Amino acid sequence: MAQAKVFAMKIEKDRVVQFHYTVSEAGQEPMESSKEREPLSILVGHGNIIPGLEKALEGREAGESFGVDVAAADAYGEKRDGLSQRVPKKHFSGQRLEPGMQVVLNTNFGQRAVTVQKVGMSVVDVDLNHPMAGKDLHFDIEVVEVREAKPEEIAHGHVHGEGGHQH
Ligand code: ZN
Repeated sequence: MAQAKVFAMKIEKDRVVQFHYTVSEAGQEPMESSKEREPLSILVGHGNIIPGLEKALEGREAGESFGVDVAAADAYGEKRDGLSQRVPKKHFSGQRLEPGMQVVLNTNFGQRAVTVQKVGMSVVDVDLNHPMAGKDLHFDIEVVEVREAKPEEIAHGHVHGEGGHQH
């Protein structure tokens, strides 16, 4: 008797993958996890996540769990010198600032995570390197769902609806 074959949908370009992740710096305690909230939804092949992780997801299916080490160069890049910048305090919308703190700054190029280096009376020195720059990371991934992207999502280059852009 012929049986209907069920083809699991694999993760590839122009598909949407929903997954849980836990990330840690190689050999250390987890820094962040999606486990206590909604899984992350990503349109694959549009540069929406770090390249090393996108590559590791390719070809996987819903229900798969795996761990992957991503070197800094394939994660948030190497830490670069000379990326300090002096920013007027007014750009920090009244937050209480302390050296070492990570804050999100509104720049001409959109929002950017920076690290506070020094707090002055009216200006703040920040390090523009991504807080995870220069770090080799380990991800534990659980693939929740894989689906075809809608044409509109492919045109926009991001996921719409649950876990994505609402507009
Ligand atoms: Zn959109």
